[in-house]
Amino acid sequence: MKPKKMLRSPFALFALSMVCCATSVFAQTSPVQTSPTETTPAQTAPSQTAPSQAAPTQAAPTQAPPTQAAPAPQFSTRDAAAQQASAAASSFDQVVDRAVEREHFFMAQMKQLHPLVETYLQNLKEDKDINAPVPTSDVYFLGRLDMSEGTDDRAFTSPTTAGLGKRMLSKLSNVYSMKFLPLGFAQMVIMDQDFQRRYYDFTFVRREFLGEVRCIVMDVAPKKNSGKGRFLGRIWIEDQDYNIVRFNGTYYPHPRASYYLHFDSWRQNLRPGVWLPSLIYSEESDLKYRLGQTLHYKAQTRLWGYNLKDLRRNSEFTEITVDAPQSVQDQSQKTQDATPIEAQRAWERQAEINVLDRLQQIGLIAPEGEIDKVLQTVVNNMMVTNNLDIQPEVKCRVLLTTPLESFTIGHTIVVSRGMIDVLPDEAALAMILTHELAHIVLGHHLNTKLAFNDRMFFPDERTFERMDFARDRSEEEAADKKAIELLNNSPYKDKLGNAGLFLKAVQARAPALKSLIRAHLGDSLLNGNATKMSSLMTGSPQFDPKKADQIAALPLGGRVKVDPWNNQLELIKTKPVAITAAAEKMPFEVTPFFPFLTRLGAAGPEKAAPVPEKTGAAPTGR
Ligand SMILES: [Zn+2]
Repeated sequence: MKPKKMLRSPFALFALSMVCCATSVFAQTSPVQTSPTETTPAQTAPSQTAPSQAAPTQAAPTQAPPTQAAPAPQFSTRDAAAQQASAAASSFDQVVDRAVEREHFFMAQMKQLHPLVETYLQNLKEDKDINAPVPTSDVYFLGRLDMSEGTDDRAFTSPTTAGLGKRMLSKLSNVYSMKFLPLGFAQMVIMDQDFQRRYYDFTFVRREFLGEVRCIVMDVAPKKNSGKGRFLGRIWIEDQDYNIVRFNGTYYPHPRASYYLHFDSWRQNLRPGVWLPSLIYSEESDLKYRLGQTLHYKAQTRLWGYNLKDLRRNSEFTEITVDAPQSVQDQSQKTQDATPIEAQRAWERQAEINVLDRLQQIGLIAPEGEIDKVLQTVVNNMMVTNNLDIQPEVKCRVLLTTPLESFTIGHTIVVSRGMIDVLPDEAALAMILTHELAHIVLGHHLNTKLAFNDRMFFPDERTFERMDFARDRSEEEAADKKAIELLNNSPYKDKLGNAGLFLKAVQARAPALKSLIRAHLGDSLLNGNATKMSSLMTGSPQFDPKKADQIAALPLGGRVKVDPWNNQLELIKTKPVAITAAAEKMPFEVTPFFPFLTRLGAAGPEKAAPVPEKTGAAPTGR
């Protein structure tokens, strides 16, 4: 231990974390979801054009068989088709032809890719107090997309594994006598499995920038007798390679006794010339079905982990090796055997590394990066002010999923993306991290059965079954107690009012948001009736959803941005938006997506693109 350094650093570290705070990393603001330049005509467009009976889904049926083989996609360079396409389409008809061609290429690509798909849905009812809908219940799906035989997804949370999927489905069907299936949401990555010009009427709408990408906007409607489940709505085609980058609408016509939901589906430029699905927002506000019942919900679907093959290259499944504990010691220059205590530590470290590697390989934990360091700064603040010297060093990682959870794996603290999104400020983050740090300080161990590498060789879908980092009640209580002690010595000591308020908000919303507040791998914020760190609630203000200036928790998706290709995370740095009404607070809630689209490696300003001949409408833009 180096006491001098330890004593000097608190201020430096705290200053660093305050800088983060100043750049609105953890400022008390509502996240910005709207694109800076554009209005949102598309949000309402489909419901105007779509027939009123087009509606929610029951596993949207697979449509026409896949189309003719497209060239094998290359992800390293822009493919030939793209280069050919970019030889400027000169008329509206040509734009349509190119877009159709690119969509076939897209379908071929998707068959080879197996991203993770997560859908989080909130059922809503109108709250007269704040004059806005609030969630009454929620549903969560997580799985891996497999389109090699139509749209399919292997659910991590499926009935055959943790039982979550089945429970949630049956629960929901009791309420609605209809089912939301993960497949219905996964389907929304596809506009039309067999997108052909002859099935549709295309109408030019305008030009528009989505982020920095100039797009040609068209309305698309299926022709009569062109088959069921065609796309009806609006599409945005980027004007260099003519890829569809966004489509907003529904499928039409729907088969008897089954419905389609409305959705707004976004693709991002993840490889040169390659645009892949990343974010889908879905919403129904007044959908009538069966005996006057109404469906009212909103849902976010996120895709990531497109490039997991690369992450996995170093640990092929065929190569099972069991490392001796000595080979992984941190102090590697030793010439002697490890002492029993050293060996025990090394053994635990091995279990920790195995689990983290595994979770990263299957796309559940982000690679090490910028946000880990922000979290680590807060942990360091705690360690330094409490004179803690923990070996091996405590690290932080981010779980890529939405449900609010945190846990420790050995000396690594893991916090979910959703948790980071909703925490109101840095002190609240410190509360969550300190609880986990307390587990480490108290020496609560990881189950070392995971130190045997072969125990990591289970299928992805069984992750939640095989890995469980939840603690028992006595360890939880001990950690809470220790954490309060640590916080009382820290710079966060007098700033914990919002942390307590956050816990009150969790308690208030828990009955409606069971899927969000349930933990999948670690500990939930609620354990039966007990709330984590509950003593912080004493003395904090009353949770009041009606007060516009009281921010207890933020909406989902406001802080952490995921690169869907390599799972790297970035903190979203947006200017704070002043909240004008209680309805805009939306604590823990789902909101529409408005990503700022960019071109990968785009150099210089956009080239001027041809104006479609048919309409002669003036281009819009910045
Ligand atoms: Zn705990």
